[in-house]
Amino acid sequence: MEICRSIPQIRAYVASLRAEGKTVGLVPTMGALHAGHIALVKAAARHADNVIATIFVNPTQFGDAADLAKYPRTEDADLALLKAAGVAAVFMPQVDDIYPGGAETIVETTVLANMLHGLVRPGHYRGVATVVTKLFNIIGPDVAAFGEKDYQQLQVIRKMVRDLHMPIKILPVPTIREADGLAMSSRNTRLTPADRAAAVILSQALDVTEKAVQSGTTVSDLAKSIRATIATQPRGTLEGLDIVDDETLAPISGPITDPTAIMISVQFGDILLIDQRVATPR
Ligand code: AMP
Repeated sequence: MEICRSIPQIRAYVASLRAEGKTVGLVPTMGALHAGHIALVKAAARHADNVIATIFVNPTQFGDAADLAKYPRTEDADLALLKAAGVAAVFMPQVDDIYPGGAETIVETTVLANMLHGLVRPGHYRGVATVVTKLFNIIGPDVAAFGEKDYQQLQVIRKMVRDLHMPIKILPVPTIREADGLAMSSRNTRLTPADRAAAVILSQALDVTEKAVQSGTTVSDLAKSIRATIATQPRGTLEGLDIVDDETLAPISGPITDPTAIMISVQFGDILLIDQRVATPR
């Protein structure tokens, strides 16, 4: 596995793959890798000859400097996981490489970035779209994999690729979960044991919603049932509940008749956990 820490190095490596006629799949990450990230690698490998992963903790998507400083960094373990998963190369740039002094250009999906989760974290999706554009421009992949767990992020990337005519196929990857159903996340390790046990409530609430949507329900009944399920777990506080069109993320109302994304966020201590489900009426 090639380890490239500079832009010229990764560009030279990609050029060598291209010279052999190989296609390239990209998996952008911020490190602290787990089985969810490895599922993205496997998905990319099904659609491209070689997979390149990136590890870059992107400062422009953090609103809070303390949050950025606290982000876990586990480089040796990450590299071992990526190597075992068959990744061809890892790109690990420095902040100054990605944001050279005086950089002023940003990429923003102006509507999708500024709704739902984007209202709570202003500038977050602009930071994501900007860094992903830079990674796309540096590496030039044929396909790139993103997790459905970060559903709004996935929709932002799809829209950006469409709007800016980027010749890259986006692969959505279903959420990988712990045995009890909790969506895997680097944040899970920061939960207290009691909060970790209680966090199963997110996926339990979503399991209930999926069945309700399949057998026919309304947005308000669904919202009521999710609130009631989360309320059974006093350790967690429901911070966000969005029941929206699965593509535009626009709020819907009345009977649910089309594929619907249900996104929830629940606070445990100082950790905010997110999860989502796309449910389709039968
Ligand atoms: P991150 O390193 O947290 O920025 O995540 C990098 C990519 O991994 C994003 O596309 C995430 O949506 C995806 N991802 C994170 N957790 C999971 C999971 N549990 N299952 C599938 N994909 C995930």
